[in-house]
Amino acid sequence: MDGDERLKPPDKGGGECECLMETEGFKASADICRKRTGDNLSSEPLPKRTITDPESGLGSESNIYKHPSLEVNCRKYDVDDFGPFIVHVSRIADSPNSGVSLKPIRLGAFLVEGGVQSVKKDGIKQVGRNRLSVEFSSATAANEFLSHELLNKHKLKAEIPSYNISRLGLVRGVPTDWSMEEFVNATEYKEGHGKIMKARRLNRKIRRDDGSPAWLPTQSVVLTFEGQSLPKKIYAFYTSLVVEVYQLPTIQCRKCLRFGHVQNACRSNARCYKCGQAHSGDTCNIPSERVRCLLCTGRHLATDPTCPEFDRQKRIKKIMSENCVSYMEASAQEPVPNPYSRTSPEI
Ligand SMILES: [Zn+2]
Ligand SMILES: [Zn+2]
Ligand SMILES: [Zn+2]
Repeated sequence: MDGDERLKPPDKGGGECECLMETEGFKASADICRKRTGDNLSSEPLPKRTITDPESGLGSESNIYKHPSLEVNCRKYDVDDFGPFIVHVSRIADSPNSGVSLKPIRLGAFLVEGGVQSVKKDGIKQVGRNRLSVEFSSATAANEFLSHELLNKHKLKAEIPSYNISRLGLVRGVPTDWSMEEFVNATEYKEGHGKIMKARRLNRKIRRDDGSPAWLPTQSVVLTFEGQSLPKKIYAFYTSLVVEVYQLPTIQCRKCLRFGHVQNACRSNARCYKCGQAHSGDTCNIPSERVRCLLCTGRHLATDPTCPEFDRQKRIKKIMSENCVSYMEASAQEPVPNPYSRTSPEI
């Protein structure tokens, strides 16, 4: 095994994770506003692990509802939003410097040159290899920056991350025979919270008698609320339903074993979940006593949910869900233990 491999974060800077968050949030508007990196979630089974809610597992269109405005609007802050007013800036993918990392101080100089004001002091942060976060002091300043001429001049694009202007809530107990449109139209909640932009019923993975996977609708629904607050309760048909903060799922790519995307969206080379070398684990014939996890060096498969790295990824997703921050900001709060314990359970 490459000794350095385990010290690298299992996700390359969080780009894939942001992709996942956008999948959860403003997918339709993202389709229109910018080029997407691909978010096909695989229905391929992972060893010993179940992906709880890939969109590809949806049984029918009635399992998803999208507000019509999702089809036309690019994301902007509302005057009622209380901040932070963050805009993400990245290089346009096919620009000459797209492979070179974008540094905060260089972008800061572009902003000064372009006369952009209302940027907070120390407000530019790196949140990905080719992605910077710029914090403005007002909603208007952030919105105006989205179409500033300096972006074109320097081949940059700016967008408001969906997790900054929407909140994901989970409600349980929604009868499985209701369509999402029917349900959303019946809901009411306190004023001051934004409208429901999207509703998506979660599915549960089961095995048919012949071993093939199938997806069954559950009574749990993920609601995307516009704005920066989540109502505590919603009302429908003379009853109330508690709205919990939706915990983003932890998913692992079966091909490269990194977290935050699945095989169909993978842009990396294969790594073996049995021995850690550069080949697919499905065809690796290493004897079980020589199995070693490339994430933590423990004596288990790199897809084993008892791996401490899987726990760390779950903690990162919890921080992302509860604090509405990017993967990079969340993972900075959960550094990789160095070295990982070598006393992990034997398989
Ligand atoms: Zn991958
Ligand atoms: Zn192998
Ligand atoms: Zn491990």
